[in-house]
Amino acid sequence: MSVEKRTQSIDLSHHLSELSKARQTSPLKGIMKYFAQPGILSLAGGLPSPAYFPVSDISANVLVPESFSLSPTEPSTSLSWLWKLFGSHNATKEKTQAITIPKYPTVKEDINLATSLQYSQAVAQAHLQNFLKQFTSEVYRPAFEDWTILVDTGNTDGWSRAVMTLCNPGEGVLCEEWTYPSAVASMIPFNIKPVPVGMDALGMKSDDLENLLSQWDPVSRQMPRPHVMYIVPVGQNPSGSTMSVARKKQIYDICVKYDVIIVEDDPYYFLQLGTYISKDDRFPGATPSGKPSADESKRYLSTLTPSFLNFDYEGRVIRLDTFSKTIAPGSRLGWFTCNPVFAERLERQGETTAQAPCGFGQAVITKILTHWTYDGYIRWLRGLRTEYQQRRDFFIDCLADEFHLHEVPAVSGVWEGCIVYQASSQVKKSTGMTEKYSARNRTMFSFVPPVAGMFVWMKLHLDQHPSFVPGDEDTLETKLWTKLAENGVLFGPGWMFSANAMAEGSDNNDSGHFRISFSNGEFTDFKKAITIFGRVIREFFQEDL
Ligand code: PMP
Repeated sequence: MSVEKRTQSIDLSHHLSELSKARQTSPLKGIMKYFAQPGILSLAGGLPSPAYFPVSDISANVLVPESFSLSPTEPSTSLSWLWKLFGSHNATKEKTQAITIPKYPTVKEDINLATSLQYSQAVAQAHLQNFLKQFTSEVYRPAFEDWTILVDTGNTDGWSRAVMTLCNPGEGVLCEEWTYPSAVASMIPFNIKPVPVGMDALGMKSDDLENLLSQWDPVSRQMPRPHVMYIVPVGQNPSGSTMSVARKKQIYDICVKYDVIIVEDDPYYFLQLGTYISKDDRFPGATPSGKPSADESKRYLSTLTPSFLNFDYEGRVIRLDTFSKTIAPGSRLGWFTCNPVFAERLERQGETTAQAPCGFGQAVITKILTHWTYDGYIRWLRGLRTEYQQRRDFFIDCLADEFHLHEVPAVSGVWEGCIVYQASSQVKKSTGMTEKYSARNRTMFSFVPPVAGMFVWMKLHLDQHPSFVPGDEDTLETKLWTKLAENGVLFGPGWMFSANAMAEGSDNNDSGHFRISFSNGEFTDFKKAITIFGRVIREFFQEDL
């Protein structure tokens, strides 16, 4: 359906879990609205007096929104990595502005600690609610009208609350076959199992999803047909895949057909990095203005792939956003966007657990956002994107320096339709590689440069290993991983991310992966790590020759 006119969400309350339905409305809720009434003489709540809060104000120096350049800083030469190692980053001087949050505001409506550190509603403090509403409306443009915002303490909390709100013990949750292990860890103890769906370079496959749901047999599966999906559509963790609009629409339509709720866990939405271009072919683009402005915000947002919310005309998407990757994970702050029925149940749940995210955190983050303004925050996000793009590019450049990367269009398999980089050893005079080894020219690993997120998902070609036995990939993956760890390099072992392995009783022979993160660490460390990796993996593949 094309979304010309926005609609009201449909009634999806039959998806609520028994636990969620059993939650009582807090008796305090009825009187909460009176607390905010101007001039009310409230002696009703167990509220401590702000006079006894031991903080008179909080001040911070905050980076300006245009702190990070919008175009990659390195010159496009074969020596660019040297520039990265010794140049741009360390030389950057931080430009900051001071912000202060007083306990009592001089202008009544301003953010203040007397309110922020007081008990507050689970939905969010008022200034933050307003900011998030504007942000969600302009960035994601939900297709249904009555979407509702509710804060949480990040997407880990968001997902675990969604599970409690939607799933009953004995049910299954649809997810990508390679998935974020913490998401599965929040379900397993409640006897809620992952139901893996096949993936390709665009993430979850719509034909696999359709087949799975249309052929679902509750008896042989020993569970009802799943009615909830957990999905990471951008810069997927661990595979790095990013879903196209067309695929999202197909998945959405299937979810409408089979009445499935989509929980969109999207922490990497603003790390949409574009296509990797090898360093010899990279040219510095035209530099955009760099100043926050409404036009530049709009132009930038139009380049981002839309959220599921954007064509959710029924209100069946629960979107999870977090400040973890855009401000700091320690802020423990994020938000749900969903239909009002789910939001109300999630709010009831929040009231009886954390009550609300920490008041200090909400006050500081809100002050930063409102100080920057909406366009300033978008400008900040654009700068972050360039930073991570440079990290991605530099990391892959290191692989290209260390290995021979052969670009091959994949005509089948999980990366069908993509250019796959196949890595083999390269003869290097300086390292004295043996003729025997280079002559074998075996592909040791392959990957598709990610267009979003923080990860390179590396497929190990373990069948090229001299002692390979089909079905025993786990052993070889662990052996190589251990050798690397002993040599001082830690990668994410692929087996950890297998939903098949996490779904009890299933076999998964498609192992032999590493998840490698380029989001943190110095450029010098990337270079060192890849040099060590090169040595260890070459030794590993030469074994027993
Ligand atoms: N979901 C995914 C897919 C993630 O990769 C991460 C962080 N690694 C999280 C959730 C955790 O997010 P938060 O810090 O907001 O809890």
